[in-house]
Amino acid sequence: MISRDRIYGSFIGNETVLEGTENTLTSPADGSAIARVFFATNELARTAIDAAYDAQDPWSKTSLKQRKALLGKLADILQERSEEYAMLETMNTGKTIRQSTFMDIPLAIEHLRYFANEHEFRVKRRISHPEFPGTMGEIQYAPMGVVGAIVPWNVPLLMTVWKVAPALLAGNTLVVKPSSYTPLTALELSKDAARAGFPQGVLNVVPGKGRELGAALTSSRKVNMISFTGSTETGQEIMRESSASIKKVTLELGGKSPNIVFEDCDLEHAVSGVLFGIFLNSGQLCESGSRLLIQRSIRDRFVSRLKERLSLMKAGNPSDFETDVSAITNREQKNRIERMVEEGIRSGAEVEYSKNMSDSPSGGLYYPPTLLSSVTPDMVVGKEEIFGPVLSIMEFSDEEEAIRMANSSRYGLAAGVWSRDRVKCHRVASKLQSGTVWINEYHLLSAAAPRGGFKDSGIGRELGLEGILEYTQTRHIFINAGESDLDEAAYGLIFSGEK
Ligand code: NAD
Repeated sequence: MISRDRIYGSFIGNETVLEGTENTLTSPADGSAIARVFFATNELARTAIDAAYDAQDPWSKTSLKQRKALLGKLADILQERSEEYAMLETMNTGKTIRQSTFMDIPLAIEHLRYFANEHEFRVKRRISHPEFPGTMGEIQYAPMGVVGAIVPWNVPLLMTVWKVAPALLAGNTLVVKPSSYTPLTALELSKDAARAGFPQGVLNVVPGKGRELGAALTSSRKVNMISFTGSTETGQEIMRESSASIKKVTLELGGKSPNIVFEDCDLEHAVSGVLFGIFLNSGQLCESGSRLLIQRSIRDRFVSRLKERLSLMKAGNPSDFETDVSAITNREQKNRIERMVEEGIRSGAEVEYSKNMSDSPSGGLYYPPTLLSSVTPDMVVGKEEIFGPVLSIMEFSDEEEAIRMANSSRYGLAAGVWSRDRVKCHRVASKLQSGTVWINEYHLLSAAAPRGGFKDSGIGRELGLEGILEYTQTRHIFINAGESDLDEAAYGLIFSGEK
């Protein structure tokens, strides 16, 4: 059982360091104190970078088989402790215990196992050079080196696993900076990695504020890559800051994802999918389907079913298994949701439905699941990411207009298409500027499928083989085995006369 007064600090070189500034974390569910955390100083972050730097060369020399075995052991430990992890994630984020227990933690374990068993990634492969018979090439996938992994607060453990597992598999070492709001499960993960047998310095975690610790990671010449998940604005800052040392940067950023519902959909299925798309984790998911694009002919019927179904969702304490609605993870985010919705209303949007939240504990951070109608694509609520339980409803007449509206966003992370006409679904999906498109589905993700954004939603991919390759740099070795007469042709370019 994790005690509520547990004290956390940075995890560096397989040891907990209780240094830095002490902070008390409170529960978004009811405001009670849940843990004390020492936020790392810049100096501690540099110590973590040094530890990762020193560990990198020996770690890169271990075999893929050894690294996979350790990832598998880590998955086993998480499995044994899955209830504790779920409780801790719910306590720290305010998400419902059902979601932690049946989604966040099992997915983190499954995805660790995916990388432990992944069989497509090879550290090298052979090629031939068609222009140069008699030669051959070896392509090596070398690790990047030290990776700085910066993680947001909405799905803390899973987002950490998405970076840590492929980076370690490819032979990198890491310094992870979880969000200052939700560092607990990433810190537990690093301790469990040490228990599993990962050598010291391979996985380090420094909790603290991004603005303060971010610079230590982005400016260090010992860090070769930043893998960032968070808002588009912070992503831009990180890209700027990383440019001085020419770091590789991957960015998983925000979204304003459309759920496109055609009149020929299976209505009840689409209603469930649209509600799931926006209200899972109270809309605090990057790919949340926050724009409902609904075909005008079924708009009224569809929206009235949304309201009926929404009224059945249960508010309450997120740690109660009966509760359906997650809290908002931090006060800044709640204020931001309130501000954006107020601005939307000022610009002409109407509150079509707002759920009664009187069953939620007092002292907690809650925002009622909300449907906004009369939204247009140029309104703040029609184009910017709210990152909360707010669905903006817009209407379209035909397929062409639906695609145009969907693609009018500066974001391109995810989309849903709902229709019984499979050919139409596929045609529409192929025209969407979006890293992921679900057809008659939403949110389901596979560790084998790369995910990431088009446009302002990011650069690079996580998960799948593509996700592993992000953590590598390619070395080409050109081998002239002495069996060709290329030299004469090539060197003749600068030696025209006698040798
Ligand atoms: P955020 O950008 O405020 O913070 C993300 C992380 O960056 C945190 O750890 C924060 O401390 C750190 N940070 C902040 N400023 C920094 C700086 N200058 N240098 C280095 N690090 C810094 O985002 P958030 O509010 O924690 O998370 C919500 C956002 O994340 C949403 O926009 C959401 O869409 C996005 N997100 C994207 C994905 C994806 O896969 N595309 C997944 C989850 C969340």
